[in-house]
Amino acid sequence: TDGMNIQEVAKKLHREPAEIIKKLFMMGVVATQNQPLDSETLELIAADYGIKAEEKVQVDISDLSVYFEEEDNEEAMVTRPPVVTIMGHVDHGKTTLLDSLRNTKVSLSEAGGITQHIGAYQIKINDQPITFLDTPGHAAFTVMRARGADVTDITIIVVAADDGVMPQTIEAINHAKAADVPIIVAVNKIDKPTANPDRVMQELSEHGLISEAWGGDTIFVNISAKFGQGIDELLEMILLVSEVQELKANPDRMAIGSVIEARLDKTKGPISTILVQQGTLKIGDPIVVGSTFGRVRAMINDQGRRVKTAGPSMPVEITGLNEAPQAGDRFVVFEDEKTARSVGEERMKRAQQESRSKQNRVTIDNLFSSL
Ligand code: GDP
Ligand code: MG
Repeated sequence: TDGMNIQEVAKKLHREPAEIIKKLFMMGVVATQNQPLDSETLELIAADYGIKAEEKVQVDISDLSVYFEEEDNEEAMVTRPPVVTIMGHVDHGKTTLLDSLRNTKVSLSEAGGITQHIGAYQIKINDQPITFLDTPGHAAFTVMRARGADVTDITIIVVAADDGVMPQTIEAINHAKAADVPIIVAVNKIDKPTANPDRVMQELSEHGLISEAWGGDTIFVNISAKFGQGIDELLEMILLVSEVQELKANPDRMAIGSVIEARLDKTKGPISTILVQQGTLKIGDPIVVGSTFGRVRAMINDQGRRVKTAGPSMPVEITGLNEAPQAGDRFVVFEDEKTARSVGEERMKRAQQESRSKQNRVTIDNLFSSL
């Protein structure tokens, strides 16, 4: 690695050269982009990014998880909006809650905008954005996690006050616990005469969710998703929990994130809703997504507006990929198209090999089962 210049180091570290030049400057070393660096300086940089010089060489750049494990510099980190997922038993009001949040809050904050269903949306409470994943249900949550996407910061578990804890409520609790995501309980349908929020508290306490009112540490909010009751309090609680979590991201780096959903459009080609987790995604960025790649051609936000950039926790719909990725796939932006292409092609090859070997396994299984 001796003699590498800033540009090459930046590429390896997946950073902007300017960031490294600045870092060196802070350490009292003045360097320019193309100047070769001595091993001492290289080690300084590597140590600063928490990487041992030898490890760096062995990094498999086609393994996207590498980019998610990189530690960011504390001072580059700024507060980012929480990403919230809504779960709960069927018919307990998940969709109604998502719609009510979107309709009352989005249209107010972005007058004139047309709400788009892109798989996620952001609302603003006193200028503080909150991102909601618009795909309620456990399948989405589990599939995303199984593919490595850990995007949820807070889970709202909706329990209908007239129905109480049901099998999918318990499932939701287990998913959230397995993912180590804090839970807020929204006791819904309290407008109904048969609503019994105390019973919900009682039943949930048997599953380890003890309300603050009973000396526990789980936040319960009584709501009526249908009539808008308790929604403001629920949002306040989300902001409170996210403040405690100290959610942060570095907006000044090449973007990484996850796919929320994707589809193939007859005229526009593959369209993917992605969520930026670190960095800022820009039009024209060379990007690898799952086992496909491309360049970000256009981005639209949840208001259907074209945007040029998307920062941390922001969901956007993008076009420009060669193929449609899958929900839960991760994406990484690379400095140049050549690298994105070679990483993308390598990942495509590996995915094909994997599916082929899976097919072979299936054939052998069939063989044995027919014996
Ligand atoms: P999901 O399956 O969890 O997405 O549940 P939905 O949002 O589709 O709601 C199921 C049914 O409950 C629908 O008929 C809703 O109108 C109704 N519902 C949802 N929230 C409330 C509420 O706060 N009060 C009342 N009375 N009905 C509700
Ligand atoms: Mg629903």
